[in-house]
Amino acid sequence: MSFITSWFDELADCYSPVMPTPLTGGRLLYHNIPLAEELELAPALFDASQGVWHGAQLLPGMRPLAQVYSGHQFGVWAGQLGDGRGLLLGEQRLADGRKVDWHLKGAGLTPYSRMGDGRAVIRSSVREFLASEALHHLGIPTTRALAIAISDEPVYRETTERGATLMRIAESHLRFGHFEHFFYAKQQDKVQQLADYAIRHHWPQWQDEEDRYLLWFSDIVLRTARLIASWQSVGFAHGVMNTDNMSILGLTLDYGPFGFMDDYQPDFICNHSDHQGRYAFDNQPVVGLWNLNRLAHSLSGLLTTEQLKQALAGYEPELMRVWGEKMRAKLGLLTPDANDNAILTELLGLMAQERSDYTLTFRLLSDTEQHSTRSPLRDEFIDREAFDAWYQRYRVRLLQDEATDEQRQQVMQAANPALVLRNYLAQQAIEGAELGDTTALARLHQALQTPYSHETASDLRQRPPEWGKTLEVSCSS
Ligand code: AMP
Ligand code: MG
Repeated sequence: MSFITSWFDELADCYSPVMPTPLTGGRLLYHNIPLAEELELAPALFDASQGVWHGAQLLPGMRPLAQVYSGHQFGVWAGQLGDGRGLLLGEQRLADGRKVDWHLKGAGLTPYSRMGDGRAVIRSSVREFLASEALHHLGIPTTRALAIAISDEPVYRETTERGATLMRIAESHLRFGHFEHFFYAKQQDKVQQLADYAIRHHWPQWQDEEDRYLLWFSDIVLRTARLIASWQSVGFAHGVMNTDNMSILGLTLDYGPFGFMDDYQPDFICNHSDHQGRYAFDNQPVVGLWNLNRLAHSLSGLLTTEQLKQALAGYEPELMRVWGEKMRAKLGLLTPDANDNAILTELLGLMAQERSDYTLTFRLLSDTEQHSTRSPLRDEFIDREAFDAWYQRYRVRLLQDEATDEQRQQVMQAANPALVLRNYLAQQAIEGAELGDTTALARLHQALQTPYSHETASDLRQRPPEWGKTLEVSCSS
């Protein structure tokens, strides 16, 4: 295993060197064996004596630093933010030439901690671990989670909790906010330096193109559109889509009060601090574009207004294309038809009215047999008349495709997960982790690796119990 320090070496003034502050009584709680294997890490690295997971030790070649960035938070320019509690420890060079950041979240104070304590708690670390692995295995771009360490160190949130660290892995942690930071500081040379760095390391195929900045920004626009289309298809709400939490690479980044919807509610707000609903589920597509506009503005020294507009114009068509593709697959509509949108909109309307479970409804629909007049879903609806009317239209539509039930069900089951990370499932894993017991965490982590499988344990697929519906997820993590 070898680490390089490209950020450290190539981006002077974009960071502060900072050493991690070890967690008092820190110890490894759990690690992601499949990811460790992917990264070719020796099992011995996860021995109890190894301090890297809780900030007590560095691996050879690591040079920790805190990155500086800024951002728009809840629509308002927030000025300088930066890594207030996470450190880029080093960049691992993989055998195939790729490099990945090792970022330790909860590693202590940095020059960018502002009023914060530099720590993360067990609750939020377990949630981020599970959510990032859940999205990854749903096929959605995201940062990954390698390991969680816990400690006895008290950390004060709404109540006293305990400190934890999460080792997060990503191709890069470059954010929209990095570019905004130097643009608003009127350091155009640094904006360009960051863009050149991004292209050199992450879009090397365009390094020598004359219009590389346009190609690059256009790709960021498309990646962002695809990311958000994917979130919408599985009912994922990020919760804090501030520009400092937006990845240049189109990864899901910085999990806080995120939520997978249980009941379908288009204006679902997972973040209880988001009183205006800026980051409500159905607002995410619009916010994605708003954020890209902020990034575009900060790239105005590299691209003309016309070029920026041209790139931004790619957002909506790409989002609609990918979303349409994904939603058609969820419905099992195999060849596009002009009426598909009406079929989908009517079903979503019914689901919203009945507060149907988003995941289970589509999964059950996947069992449809086109010659049967009875839908496997019928009993789930209170307004059976409305459902039957929809279902008859749907069946007629299915017959247009000339596919067998088996062919269609295959497509639908690959698009409709049986398992998503519901808040109540995460909560059970957290309660175990707080006691040092990883049974529930490990079992859930395992199941989330095959979310489309028929074999998922049935207790993990259920709607939330009463207590699990009212869990409040706050911003403080
Ligand atoms: P977030 O909304 O979690 O993405 O955080 C926004 C900013 O606040 C980032 O710059 C974080 O590094 C910083 N931050 C959040 N929590 C803490 C904390 N406990 N200590 C220091 N900085 C924090
Ligand atoms: Mg953040």
